[in-house]
Amino acid sequence: MEIQYVIINFLILAGILFLFCRKMIVRIFRSRRERIQQLLDEAEALEKRELPVYEDILEEPHLPVDQTLVQAAKTDAEEKIRQIRAFGQREMREIHRHMIKKVKKEWLAEIKAEITALFQKEPYLSRIRESEEYIIEKILEKIKLTPGDMAYLKRCDVLYVTLTSAHPLDPKLVERVDKATTELLNTVNGKTSLWVLEDPALIGGLRLRIGDTVYDGTVAEGFYLFQTSLIKDPITVDEAAKELLEEFTEKAAHFEPKINEYQLGRVMTISDGICWMDGLADIMYGEVVEFDCGERGMVLDIQPDRIGCVIFGEYEHIESGSRVRRIGRIASVPVGEALLGRVVDAVGHPIDGEGHLPHCDRRPIECSAPAILDRAAVCEPMHTGLKAVDALVPIGRGQRELIIGDRQTGKTAIALDTIINQKGKDTICIYVAIGQKETLISELKEKLEKYGAMEYTTIVAATASGSAALQYIAPFSGTAMAEYFMYAGKDVLIIYDDLSKHAVAYRELSLLLHRPSGREAYPGDIFYLHSRLLERSAKLSEEKGGGSITALPIIETLAGDISAYIPTNVISITDGQIFLEADLFHEGQRPAINVGLSVSRVGSAAQTKLMKQVSSSLRTKLAQYRELANFTQFGTDIDEDTKRTLESGKRLMEALKQERYHPLEDWKQALLLFAVSEGFADETAVEEMAAFEDGLFAYFEEEQPALTYQLQTGAKMDAAFIEKVKAALGSYAKRA
Ligand code: ATP
Ligand code: MG
Repeated sequence: MEIQYVIINFLILAGILFLFCRKMIVRIFRSRRERIQQLLDEAEALEKRELPVYEDILEEPHLPVDQTLVQAAKTDAEEKIRQIRAFGQREMREIHRHMIKKVKKEWLAEIKAEITALFQKEPYLSRIRESEEYIIEKILEKIKLTPGDMAYLKRCDVLYVTLTSAHPLDPKLVERVDKATTELLNTVNGKTSLWVLEDPALIGGLRLRIGDTVYDGTVAEGFYLFQTSLIKDPITVDEAAKELLEEFTEKAAHFEPKINEYQLGRVMTISDGICWMDGLADIMYGEVVEFDCGERGMVLDIQPDRIGCVIFGEYEHIESGSRVRRIGRIASVPVGEALLGRVVDAVGHPIDGEGHLPHCDRRPIECSAPAILDRAAVCEPMHTGLKAVDALVPIGRGQRELIIGDRQTGKTAIALDTIINQKGKDTICIYVAIGQKETLISELKEKLEKYGAMEYTTIVAATASGSAALQYIAPFSGTAMAEYFMYAGKDVLIIYDDLSKHAVAYRELSLLLHRPSGREAYPGDIFYLHSRLLERSAKLSEEKGGGSITALPIIETLAGDISAYIPTNVISITDGQIFLEADLFHEGQRPAINVGLSVSRVGSAAQTKLMKQVSSSLRTKLAQYRELANFTQFGTDIDEDTKRTLESGKRLMEALKQERYHPLEDWKQALLLFAVSEGFADETAVEEMAAFEDGLFAYFEEEQPALTYQLQTGAKMDAAFIEKVKAALGSYAKRA
């Protein structure tokens, strides 16, 4: 009964609510419906209408838009898109490389499994078993004690000998090995301890290890050699795996055991790209070692009980306790014409996605510098195309000129302009980027391509994301590539951008190798590091082919401090420096060369006569101007003489300004600076200097062809000629 009342009450309540709120509910629903309808209509209208294009809005006259802002936004957007695209391409390349690596690995595993199965079957099995005696004979012919073994015997008089085979061995053969090794050790009063092991992973044949030296006559070793040769060759076709298997089966059918000799070691610990190993008794500094997983490293530290090496690639999958093998060669890089136009990493692998390098020669990355008698004095100019450099700090072929300055002062710009200026001058350029951003390198390549400079340039890039080991060897690799051309009689320009980051990478490696740090935490041998690098740049004598390497190392300073450890080191190694000043740069004086602190100790020998005449007075004039400018900064009361010096100084400074990517021929530089320093531009307003410059060149080319020809060829620049030039300049100045 109660339920009935509740229901009736509820119905009455709902009725009352409906009566009073009906209108409101209807209104709510209606407004909702109207809103939805309106939105739908709007959407329909929008769909039908053509959307206004971005530029259309901007071009409408009633919209007050700052065009410079629009342009800035546009270039910004374009830059972002370019960066994203470059990043995408890089990622794709990286993925591609990884995929190829993976596919190769899978193929190799497949081939190995097939081969293992093959050697379980007849006639291969019996053939390999029959050859065991022959293998032992060959091995015993080869065995000897290495200096490492002797040193080991001095400490502990037992040398371990291990004989490992894929199948159980005939005891007679074991006895023979025992006898031969005991005899060998008897010659030096040592003892042996022979271990006989079985390892099916060897597939067939046998291997003898004496101390750290291995004499290997197994099928597994044959496969390893086959695999190494394969990794060098690019595999691109799908059929490759099958073809390779056929190739190896073919080889297996005529299997002839060969004995390969190498030394083994063991990974003790590995961290931060540094690996400590033992074994490898006779290893040398700078030698390459190979880990089980195929990764390679370079030995940088040799101690009595352990060997330290840096790893070039990824080290995460190297396990402690795994084997390391001596490759038997010093770290080297590919060299030759094939590298021109390419971007390679510090070990010479191309990273520009333009395919493998064709077969190249190799050169060790560390190599002694040319001897004194093999060198000639610097006598030919290396034009940078920059007025301020060629006139004030001239560089000769074979010289080492440091570019030093704070960050963002145009250091790279000078180097790049110099490369661009080498077009058509039969000079090879090598740009070594150490610890730079990847975008910067792709930008640089783009610029060089745009100005047609990439065809004679190689970029060696060890980017900031790469390991310290790669950054450490990059300049040495670049120099090895340069040396190839130098010894072939060519002129090379090499740029190290920059050696401050190189020093930091070396510091990192040294600290990881537990070497004591020295001044400013840099290792003590950092001077030796940079001097042995830069000493390799030289001008060779005629007998040695007359080639040269001109080096432009770059150093970054902190707050203009050139007295820090690394800057002073490199200043003292090089033949002069171009000092770039942040203040000048921000004042708009670009390139921002500080004339007072920049010197070139040998380059002036290679200047043309006119340039020599100009530059000798230029330096003093500029120094005078700077001093006066500083002095008169706050005063207004200046006498006429001072005013004149100041005014002509201003014009000289203006004439030294130069846009990026606009290298100027030598005769034009000399002519302009001669005109300005002789006062022919005194009547021209400072703002008009650019027009004065353009007009001057046009005037000489069109109206003074004889003088221009003489200027270009540099022939007979005597007093009479100078007078003629002065007269021509006078008539131009009058006209301007
Ligand atoms: P970092 O320390 O980052 O390596 P950097 O010293 O190498 O810098 P650059 O990258 O060469 O300096 O130049 C810095 C900026 O100055 C760049 O944006 C460049 O375009 C500009 N710049 C350099 N030289 C000139 C020049 N002669 N005229 C106009 N702009 C210049
Ligand atoms: Mg730079």
